[in-house]
Amino acid sequence: MSKSKHHPTQRTPTYYLLTLGCPKNLVDSEGMAMLLQRDGYRATANPDRADVLIVNTCGFLDAAREESIATLQELAAGKQRHQRLVAAGCLAQRDGDEVVRRVPGVDALLGTRRWMEIVPLAAQLRAGRRGERYALLGDPERDDDGTVLRPSAPSGSAYLKISDGCNAPCAFCSIPSFKGKLHSRPLPAILDEAARLVQGGAHELIIVAQDSTDYGRDRGEPDSLPQLLSALCRRTPDLRWLRLMYAYPGHVSDRLIEVMASEPQILHYLDMPLQHGHPDTLRRMRRPSSSTWVYKTVDKLRAAMPDLALRSTFIVGFPGESEAEFQGLLDFIQAVQFDKLGVFKFSAEPGTPAFDLPDQVAEEVKEERWHRVMAAQQSISLARNQAQVGRRLEVLVEGMGQVDGQDAAGMALPSGAPLTLARSYRDAPEVDGLVLLPGQALPAGQMVAATISGALAYDLVGELAPATPTAGLSFQPAAELTLI
Ligand code: SF4
Repeated sequence: MSKSKHHPTQRTPTYYLLTLGCPKNLVDSEGMAMLLQRDGYRATANPDRADVLIVNTCGFLDAAREESIATLQELAAGKQRHQRLVAAGCLAQRDGDEVVRRVPGVDALLGTRRWMEIVPLAAQLRAGRRGERYALLGDPERDDDGTVLRPSAPSGSAYLKISDGCNAPCAFCSIPSFKGKLHSRPLPAILDEAARLVQGGAHELIIVAQDSTDYGRDRGEPDSLPQLLSALCRRTPDLRWLRLMYAYPGHVSDRLIEVMASEPQILHYLDMPLQHGHPDTLRRMRRPSSSTWVYKTVDKLRAAMPDLALRSTFIVGFPGESEAEFQGLLDFIQAVQFDKLGVFKFSAEPGTPAFDLPDQVAEEVKEERWHRVMAAQQSISLARNQAQVGRRLEVLVEGMGQVDGQDAAGMALPSGAPLTLARSYRDAPEVDGLVLLPGQALPAGQMVAATISGALAYDLVGELAPATPTAGLSFQPAAELTLI
């Protein structure tokens, strides 16, 4: 039973925490949840039963901002007398005034670098009078000593934030304006946190940052990501998968490729958001514009790791994007043959240089271009998935589903049959596809071996495979051998 620091006659306080936006927000939410639980709070999925309601908001795009506001408004409308509502995260940090103006029921704003103060804030709110409002927005340049522990990882996977903020000048992005410049966490703090996560059950750690490849530059040590990755592998020998997200073009060094290829724990997976494929669009985006560099780097990556899964993201409809430039993007995507792709329609963010650029592209043109990229990528993705058929892959179970009517025929199983949803090294959670194991019911967080038997446009279908017999161990029947 967990020990509560609250008075024994008081009932256990509860919190409801909703996370919107990107994986980086999820990391902060996990931290808040852990701190609250340590202080004796219990999580509830029902907002009506919570004492403290927390929304970790996203302020990246217009649509995300509106979703955050709508969520807060809904919770504020149903708020009971004793309940307190906290707006945390990017939107609270960046546009706190707007949040309070549009959602007067918000009792506190908690900035992106002060989420670790959730416990004293919640105590203050619960002890304070109704209608009192607090703002902990903090100084974005404040040092984060990285001493906050993360919770264990029941899903077998956890995010590891190595830095915050960004030095890049991308014309469409508002993140640096509210997150500030690059701020790398000290290496020992990252290593300690990784060790705790692995001890808590994480098989997979996912490195996140605004630009993970810039790690260390603010400490006078550019290109120190390879060193960090090697140190992580040494410090956590039981870790199975170390995944790298958000590499910036131009910052992927030979040293990084060498470390990725030589450390067995580092997945042969790289997410490198490139945003566009035409040099003129890239120049207006204030992004690195050399396609020669991209082709050369992709060649090096694939030569060092022939089974590399390469992911990228692109923006269509950036101001001034002509049909010829867009065609350049399509040609680029065909030439590189990415395994995974995310495509966004440009959204003019107030306060960014791209907001006022001339020649904004009409919404229907953006929409049409988005569909054309998606269609082009679908064939590429399917072909690359088909090349996986017959491979034996380690997969990490994400959860359970059911075979539905649409897929039942393809899986030769009746509709309603159990379906295990898993991921291989080729799939990052939330953004990539899945490996579907029809007919299996396995618990989340388990790692098993699968033989790939089929390919869909985004997902793979597989069957449980017998584990490879290890020297000194006797061979067991397949059914018992799926744990690896
Ligand atoms: S690198 Fe990413 S976070 Fe940094 S400014 Fe560009 S888009 Fe924004």
